Amino acid sequence: MATELEIVRTVADLRARVAAWHGQDETVAMVPTMGAIHEGHMSLVAQAKGLAGHVVASIFVNPLQFGPNEDFDAYPRGEARDAALLAQAGATLLFAPNSGEMYSDGFATTVHVAGMTEGLCGASRPDHFDGVATVVAKLLLQCGPDIAIFGEKDYQQLLVIKRLVRDLNIPVEIVGGAIVREPDGLALSSRNAYLSADERETAPLLHAAIQQASHELAAGLVTEHALEAARAALEAAGFRVDYLEARDPETLAPLSGSVASARILVAAFLGKTRLIDNVPVPPQR
Ligand code: AMP
Repeated sequence: MATELEIVRTVADLRARVAAWHGQDETVAMVPTMGAIHEGHMSLVAQAKGLAGHVVASIFVNPLQFGPNEDFDAYPRGEARDAALLAQAGATLLFAPNSGEMYSDGFATTVHVAGMTEGLCGASRPDHFDGVATVVAKLLLQCGPDIAIFGEKDYQQLLVIKRLVRDLNIPVEIVGGAIVREPDGLALSSRNAYLSADERETAPLLHAAIQQASHELAAGLVTEHALEAARAALEAAGFRVDYLEARDPETLAPLSGSVASARILVAAFLGKTRLIDNVPVPPQR
């Protein structure tokens, strides 16, 4: 049974709802999204529901985090469908501001997390993490949740958000949510909809290749060899690899040689679509 989902569009209305819950000693968890809701988002909402009395989901396609040649205009939008799915997963309030509510005339502030934003996705998407950090800082300050949940699908983003919350003393606990995958291993993503039928058939290799590398690292193979083999397998299948790296799972510091614990992170293009994925070392299963 779906819960009833109220939609608010202003920060004032959002704050009033959350203040009322907090006034009754009820806890609030937030799940920020850009819409195009799929089971990955829904699992974060379900996880949030298990951790707090109320779940606030947000939908805002944030222009600041898209580069000039990226898919901001094409990004899939459909609020009625999204709201129904979020309600089904257990959200009790949807915050869906328009861009004027988020970025008023003369908006001039940027949140920049140094260091861990520089490599990986930060290298090929230069202003992306400033856009993410700015909008997430705003959403957390607008809502004031006790907990906020972000997917491990965007692993670098999750660590950047943990860092910014610590650095700015934002009083919220950041929790990571496990990656939800298709049965063939492809991580769910709104951007999977851009894949042609052929590309969709090839796409699961992205996860297979890093999972294989994770097994190899856990068995003692050095990072360089395991990653070289994964890169070769991806390129042979038609991927254009943007990055493929083993990093420290907490700090994202680069790793080389033999490693006992790591995160393997990859971004690769299939045609025009850029897919990302990551797995832990040792592998989960
Ligand atoms: P997005 O709408 O793509 O910005 O994603 C909103 C949130 O959902 C982010 O915290 C993502 O990391 C998370 N997310 C996206 N895809 C998945 C997935 N397949 N499994 C788990 N979480 C996901």
